[in-house]
Amino acid sequence: MDELPPRLPGAPSVDLIQLTAPNPGPMTLEGTNTYVIRDGDQAWVVDPGPRDPEHLADVLLAMPRPGRPMGVLVTHHHADHAAGAATLARQLAARSGCEVPLWAADPALVHGARPVPSELTSDHGTVGHVVHLPGHTGDSIGVLLEGGRMLTGDTLLGGSSTVVVPDDGGVLAEYLQSLAILRAMALDGRIGSLHPGHGPQSSSPLDALTVIDEAIAHREERLEQVRRARTAGILTMDRLLRAVYGPDLPPEKEKAARWNIRAALDHLSPRT
Ligand SMILES: [Zn+2]
Repeated sequence: MDELPPRLPGAPSVDLIQLTAPNPGPMTLEGTNTYVIRDGDQAWVVDPGPRDPEHLADVLLAMPRPGRPMGVLVTHHHADHAAGAATLARQLAARSGCEVPLWAADPALVHGARPVPSELTSDHGTVGHVVHLPGHTGDSIGVLLEGGRMLTGDTLLGGSSTVVVPDDGGVLAEYLQSLAILRAMALDGRIGSLHPGHGPQSSSPLDALTVIDEAIAHREERLEQVRRARTAGILTMDRLLRAVYGPDLPPEKEKAARWNIRAALDHLSPRT
């Protein structure tokens, strides 16, 4: 990113509606948060979620009627965010008679997608800025709305820490850099609240900064634990897992823990 999006003054005039998909689990917490952004009769959907007919019907109900669907955007290609996206874009197009684009940062990873625009624009001007936030995956983005509401995808979660997924282009150094960008935006007043891909929102600037700071501290602590364990001669994945996460790691969290350790090992010994 060349420069931070401009400060967005004034009270929010754009509506943000959150709908949680019925896909709760250890990785998805209460379920995927789908967001509908409305500016008058124009609307966008961020992260339609899984291909669940009832959830997609709820999303359609949250759209303005009569209205103009402007686009469907996914914050990254993971199925819990993107699997329902093409279906929803088709449904919105059929209902409105307009073409409804599906956008992703890496269109090769999301069926039917085209490259994400840098801004969401309505008849009244800029509604939101797309911010590239690689780290959870290589194609992770966020959307900063008018008034400072930040849709974070899986870069930040409400009430839990996210995972860096090396198999999906996730890189710890990039994740830490994305967190530093979010921190800078929160510190100078560009971010007023966080609206994560899973879990509850952080609805004040101070809460948002606290969540970002905790995410940075947590990641650095884990990295230090892996570094210390390796220095102590613990070199196999299974032993690192026990050294860093303890003997009582729930089985359903083991996959994510292994990804995070692999990301830390890549960070400590980058391949050339
Ligand atoms: Zn994800």
